[in-house]
Amino acid sequence: MLDQTYESPKPKIIAGAKYDWELVIGLEVHAQVASKAKLFSGASTKFGAEPNSNVAFVDAAMPGMLPVINEFCVEQAVRTGLGLKAEINLYSAFDRKNYFYPDLPQGYQISQLYHPIVGEGEVLVELSEGIARLVRVERIHLEQDAGKSIHDMDPNMSFVDLNRTGVALMEIVSRPDIRGPEEAAAYVAKIRQILRYLGTCDGNMQNGNLRADVNVSVCRAGDYERYRETDDFAHLGTRCEIKNMNSMRFMQAAIDFEAKRQIAILEDGGKVHQETRLYDPDKNETRSMRSKEEAHDYRYFPCPDLLPLEIEQDWVDGIAATLPELPDDKKSRFINDFGLSDYDASVLTADVANAAFFENVAKGRDGKLAANWVINELFGRLKKDDKSISDSPVSADQLGGVIELITKGDISGKIAKALFEIVYVEGGVPAEIVEARGMKQVTDTGAIEAAVDKIIAANPAQVEKAKANPKLAGWFVGQVMKATGGKANPKAVSEIVGSKLGLR
Ligand code: ADP
Ligand code: MG
Repeated sequence: MLDQTYESPKPKIIAGAKYDWELVIGLEVHAQVASKAKLFSGASTKFGAEPNSNVAFVDAAMPGMLPVINEFCVEQAVRTGLGLKAEINLYSAFDRKNYFYPDLPQGYQISQLYHPIVGEGEVLVELSEGIARLVRVERIHLEQDAGKSIHDMDPNMSFVDLNRTGVALMEIVSRPDIRGPEEAAAYVAKIRQILRYLGTCDGNMQNGNLRADVNVSVCRAGDYERYRETDDFAHLGTRCEIKNMNSMRFMQAAIDFEAKRQIAILEDGGKVHQETRLYDPDKNETRSMRSKEEAHDYRYFPCPDLLPLEIEQDWVDGIAATLPELPDDKKSRFINDFGLSDYDASVLTADVANAAFFENVAKGRDGKLAANWVINELFGRLKKDDKSISDSPVSADQLGGVIELITKGDISGKIAKALFEIVYVEGGVPAEIVEARGMKQVTDTGAIEAAVDKIIAANPAQVEKAKANPKLAGWFVGQVMKATGGKANPKAVSEIVGSKLGLR
């Protein structure tokens, strides 16, 4: 599919002092399941609650408390897997990842190392028209989030907020198929878009509900191709993992910095050490946080408190039957059904609510015109007021009404903009406003002819000039438009001016 419709982008080449280098990036996206309750307890997941108010006994790891799996969260992971065209594993199991940290009262995180719920999938990441990278997804597993340590509230003490402890995360692990900072950002944007379409994660990066660990390595030209041919990681460079990026901009800057840092080490004859690093946006650099732990450092073992998770194919099929139309399909449909350009279709399908709004405007009307109005006028106006589509003062019906008036020739594009502003600020039915305020376009040729005659009679010198140079006829069109308060049909005016001046 990729070969026919899309071309793969070139990998980003970074010039070192001695050699050219290529970037290799693999992402672990942590997406918080859009669930009201946590993965193994009934405690609320509400953001911004009073610290430690959403903590069940099991989240606080009180002795004798047992986790109980939240079926809704499992369903969301399956839904996400289906949306990423991935294999769903009917058998999966939870493991304990052991480590000590104050925000992890259990002393271990319940995760899925050996048997994740979702296996291999893929994500098509379009970078520009006709250019796309097919990124392979290795797995998606369910796991608990940790709490939050707070070090900046008191000079002598640290605090812990366990509200987030035990919240369900889906960890979406990509193969190292991403080849540049822009691609990494586009990949995260695409994952976010799909999850929002599916409704399995709200994608709010600012609140940390979607964040990524970014693995970066560099290699010499040709080595990546060798890795793809053999699936042997030995062809790739050693990676460093930059933790917890929740801004696309910082993610790109961090990758850039990290690549240059690794290249400098390698060209100097040194070795990159596999480690976990943190990005500091103030200094625009990554810093070592700790050397990389291996799986055995975590003493993973099957969680004895939970039975393996066995789900039925029928249940999975039932979820598959309720999947919404996904972004790629919606985009192709918009191009085919409404005659939109690739670019307009991308803009309109970027967000599922925007896409639905546009469809309501376009249904039964001129699709291209509807796209122009939604993208240029409505989105522009909403942006000015810092509003999203859900609080748009103009409904799809109202905007559709404006468009119908343009299509019928009742109003010109210019009057339509004024009408849109009235509807935006005051509300009302567009056709009624046009009627009540006399905004209708004058298409009556008699009235236009009279206006043209009057202006020709009053400006004999201009007439002579225009006869010598037909380009000057535009001046008469402008005068007539002015005289009719912009309501004359510009096309009709231009024709009548032309014939009266003997230019056509
Ligand atoms: P860990 O838990 O040790 O970080 P995971 O298997 O969860 O390991 O994730 C490893 C991530 O690192 C994957 O996204 C993978 O694609 C990526 N990765 C592995 N090797 C490289 C490499 N040489 N360069 C860049 N990314 C890599
Ligand atoms: Mg990792």
